Amino acid sequence: MLNASAQNLGTESAFGVLARAGALSAAGKDIINLGIGQPDFRTPEHIVEAGIKALQDGAHGYTPSMGLMSLRETVANDAFQRYGVRPDVSRIQIVPGGKPVMFTAMMLLGGPGHEILTPDPGFPIYQSAINYSGAKSISYGLVEEKGFAFDADDVLSKITDKTSLVIVNSPANPTGGITPRAEMDKFVKGLADFPHVTIMSDEIYDRLVFDTKPLSLLSYPEIQDRLIVLNGWSKTYAMTGWRIGYGIWPERLIDFADRLAVNFHSCVNAPTQHAAEAALKGDQSCVEDMLIAFRRRGSLITSLLNDIDGIRCQAPGGAFYVFANIGDTAFTSHQFQDTALEDYGVACISGTSFGGFGEGYVRLSCANSDEAISEAIERLKKMVGERG
Ligand code: PLP
Repeated sequence: MLNASAQNLGTESAFGVLARAGALSAAGKDIINLGIGQPDFRTPEHIVEAGIKALQDGAHGYTPSMGLMSLRETVANDAFQRYGVRPDVSRIQIVPGGKPVMFTAMMLLGGPGHEILTPDPGFPIYQSAINYSGAKSISYGLVEEKGFAFDADDVLSKITDKTSLVIVNSPANPTGGITPRAEMDKFVKGLADFPHVTIMSDEIYDRLVFDTKPLSLLSYPEIQDRLIVLNGWSKTYAMTGWRIGYGIWPERLIDFADRLAVNFHSCVNAPTQHAAEAALKGDQSCVEDMLIAFRRRGSLITSLLNDIDGIRCQAPGGAFYVFANIGDTAFTSHQFQDTALEDYGVACISGTSFGGFGEGYVRLSCANSDEAISEAIERLKKMVGERG
């Protein structure tokens, strides 16, 4: 007999589209992938070498469940260098990717009777993990008119006695939207009225911002005792497949987070942790180079899409996605995704995969070459011209 909660698990459609795109490619179809949210770059060589060296040096066994101390110290130093705040190492947990931080947060703060506020459109695993935990998810909308930034007053107005957790994500997936500092200030100030609420700030794209300075909720001392920061190496250093991330937890939650880790995955493999340490300590020009490419491609996708009748979009402020409004074409978001992939060989993701507010939108990833992007948008133009 299945645990009833299992029925509540959702999924991440990007993986489904990736699998379908792979199957079509294998069958000989010419597919351009603007679907998946991972950099198209290789992990920089000095990082790969650090991983190989660790393996050759015999780092083959279990590591501490919280992560290698040298890596946790490196994460604390990195936070200090970038945000001027050095979280205590005892609150830093190394995990296999950013995702385990969100699942752990939902397991610890969800459950029947609790409400969790989550962005819509937003990363689909938030919703899935909330549902699995048995908590009630309360969405707050991110709208195009506000550049997909969240509205602090709107979010604060949704907090009740039952709210255990508020999720924020800036720069955001799927929109590339950034919440300005003034709005974050207002949000943090308003939280003073709700001391029972914990905040999970998903900062996996914090280094990938184009025209603004990176912002972390770590820089607000007044909420440190109820802030969970999710971050990692996947997007910044093109390390999605290595599976490594970290959580910075409030003191009162860290032992529970560790206990869940020991129950679930024990630890992160050693070579990956050595590679991650090399990433943070090494030359950062690789991050800058990727950022420049994502920014250029984001502008390219935006200007080419805005040339198509029925489609409009804003240039993203960060991350590597363009969230295009296709509301004036004849397609629903899902039809757009399926027709683009099956008939025109372009993988993109329906906005509805990220919540109800995503209807009328599709997400296109900038993680492909300028040439491939130009060809993909040409195909979408043809599609909308012929069918929509
Ligand atoms: N948070 C957001 C907003 C993401 O977009 C992703 C990945 O797409 C993650 C977290 C998960 O990152 P990881 O691959 O490190 O688990």
